[in-house]
Amino acid sequence: MTEPRCGTPHHRYPDTLCTEPAGHYQPDRDPHAGPLIIDGRQAGAAAWDEPKEQQHMTDRHTADSITSDALDQLYDQLATAEQACEQLQQRLDHAKEDLRHRTETATAAPGADALRADQAEAAIARAHHVANLIAAGAPWTANLDDTANRLREALDGQP
Ligand SMILES: [Zn+2]
Repeated sequence: MTEPRCGTPHHRYPDTLCTEPAGHYQPDRDPHAGPLIIDGRQAGAAAWDEPKEQQHMTDRHTADSITSDALDQLYDQLATAEQACEQLQQRLDHAKEDLRHRTETATAAPGADALRADQAEAAIARAHHVANLIAAGAPWTANLDDTANRLREALDGQP
């Protein structure tokens, strides 16, 4: 057995070393393999691929490894994220409120416009009536003030 061995440690059980020939490893095709050793004792055999995101996994904190500084930093990040969430929620609420307001205004406007149009039509009809009376020579046409007042009343919506 002079052939050099791979010797790559298992990513979770570093006492477990690959006993395959050196240079054998091919991801997803030729996994590392060797006796599984946990806490110094053999517990069967293991075959494993190297973690695909090794960098990520070594960067990741665990409850055992995290320092209080790193924990503070994580809490800061959490607070910042929560704040951002809150601001987004507020903006969303405002946008909803604005939309609701615009929707109400948009639905109210046609009704208001229609009402104003009806009132304008009625005023024009009354003015036409007064014009007809003037043309017919109604007795109050002798008085210009009286005539003007009747026309104004017709336009202002009074009977
Ligand atoms: Zn190996």
